[in-house]
Amino acid sequence: MSRKGILIVVSGFSGSGKGTLMKELLSRYPDAYALSVSATTRAPREGEQHGREYFFISKDEFEKMIAKGELIEYAKYVENYYGTPREYVEKKLEEGKDVILEIEIQGALKVKKAFPDTLLLFVTPPSAAELKERLVGRGTETMDVIRSRMDRACEEAEGMDSYDYLIVNDDLVTCVKEMHEIIQGEHHRSFRNKAFMKEIKEDLERLKGLKGED
Ligand code: 5GP
Repeated sequence: MSRKGILIVVSGFSGSGKGTLMKELLSRYPDAYALSVSATTRAPREGEQHGREYFFISKDEFEKMIAKGELIEYAKYVENYYGTPREYVEKKLEEGKDVILEIEIQGALKVKKAFPDTLLLFVTPPSAAELKERLVGRGTETMDVIRSRMDRACEEAEGMDSYDYLIVNDDLVTCVKEMHEIIQGEHHRSFRNKAFMKEIKEDLERLKGLKGED
């Protein structure tokens, strides 16, 4: 049976470790998954490469992509545009890969509306205290920065119940395994296998009419 890819959105608090989680998932199962690279108008951070973390483009270029319908969704986040290029996603889904979009909640909900079969996953640390501890990290951030990230986490938490699954990132290896199992299990949902069910029903009807061939 040919298997079509599932469109998967992964969101999570800043500090949930979702970036590391995605890298680990992709490196463990390189044939199963494809990670979409977004376009953004924000400036690259140190170590980021055009085409790897993001396609870093100007506001003008971004607006042209919107006008031409080249983005599946886009959102403004902290004064910058972020969007998902359509072409790569559609190509990989056709090839049977599960395509992962690592995007924030406004984008996640837009994708779900446009493509109702999208699987929404939300990554969270085991507790609020743990999130704060991760944000405090090595003690390099000011209390102001930590506070504003905690504020943002409070806002993001409001949207958690729109997601299909919560993934608690306590231990990286366990978490990658759980995420992979959730996605693989999802392939068995009946609504994702309509063509197969139709075929087996038709074959059953046909075979019941034939004599002595059971
Ligand atoms: P950052 O600037 O830290 O890389 O990303 C800021 C936020 O934008 C993160 O929550 C990230 O998941 C989200 N983001 C990245 N790419 C996209 C995208 O294509 N669309 C939307 N809606 N959000 C994105």
